Amino acid sequence: MQNDRNQPVGDRPNWKPETLAVAAGRPDRVPDAPLNQPIVPASTYVGGSTTDLVGYGRYGNPGWTALEDTVAALEGGSRALAFASGMAAVAAVLAAVPADATIVIPEHCYLGVAGLADEYRQRHGLTVRTVDIADTAAVLQAADGADLVWIETPANPTMDVADLPAIAAALAEGCLLLVDNTFATPLLQQPLTQGADMVLHSATKFLSGHSDALCGILVFAADTDADLVARAESARKLHGATPGVLECYLVLRGIRTLPVRVRQAEASAKVLVGLLEDHPLVTRVRYPGFGSMLAIDLPDAATADALIDNLRLWVHATSLGGVESTLERRRRWPSELASVPQGLVRMSVGIEHVDDLAADLLGGLDRVRA
Ligand SMILES: *Cc1c(COP(=O)(O)O)cnc(C)c1O
Repeated sequence: MQNDRNQPVGDRPNWKPETLAVAAGRPDRVPDAPLNQPIVPASTYVGGSTTDLVGYGRYGNPGWTALEDTVAALEGGSRALAFASGMAAVAAVLAAVPADATIVIPEHCYLGVAGLADEYRQRHGLTVRTVDIADTAAVLQAADGADLVWIETPANPTMDVADLPAIAAALAEGCLLLVDNTFATPLLQQPLTQGADMVLHSATKFLSGHSDALCGILVFAADTDADLVARAESARKLHGATPGVLECYLVLRGIRTLPVRVRQAEASAKVLVGLLEDHPLVTRVRYPGFGSMLAIDLPDAATADALIDNLRLWVHATSLGGVESTLERRRRWPSELASVPQGLVRMSVGIEHVDDLAADLLGGLDRVRA
């Protein structure tokens, strides 16, 4: 498949996500062309073009396009925009809605989203309502008269899950639905096919998959208002929130193996969930039933910190979605919400052998308990 940003979705071959992850975003198949979209470091381009004018490095790059086309294909969207980070994509959305808009955000979500929304509230007159996204009736009540409903599902770090089809079906015509699909990835959840208008990714996480790049992506449904897409693209240009060409290359390279990484990590997560549920020190296992993100509740902060100190394979680090298994006690961040228990440890299962992950984790829990 060629770079086909102007081609309607219907013209794409009806390939499965596993195939699209490998086949999308490739250069044209002509003799001696590279298989992969090369990195094109360019701050400016030769003038004179009459069609598809790019012009300047902050307006476009073939490496952005290859990544955008691939994620748009995976999510079933018509158009995607790559950004310098997930937060840059978040900021572009907040810049693209009217300054006096009313938005609904999850009570538990990525902290940067709540923080930036609050800044827009204070500086620009945005109205922000927070809601428990697992409570569909409460979401719909909060959405009354709103311009945008922002759902993160599963949500960070509580693993709350929203009923997307029910919410999408009941939202008023003029209310946009955005889903942060960072935790689920398009392999496990395709919000645009369930009625969402926009999907957001911190591509820093699973899409990249190797903990070595910062990048964000916004994907738009085929019927999204063209003005909204244009405003988000304009925000990228005018805020200079442009992705690096190396980062786009790394994320696209990561996406080639996304399906196998996601399946492996998910299979291991399910094994670990079973083991953790049986452990006497663990008071609660939070697992949405799919994917490789989970959280456990331990009795208190000291117990959680002791566990983290007693592990050799699991890495104590924030962020998630890498090939390496990581974990952290979320309340170590002073900005984390007080409603998140002190002993909650968020875990991102990687692709190491599950026996080694389990032995490290259970050994650590047993040592802490002894
Ligand atoms: C990390 C993350 C973000 C922010 O992405 P960055 O790439 O760190 O800017 C947004 N949403 C979720 C769910 C995240 O995990």
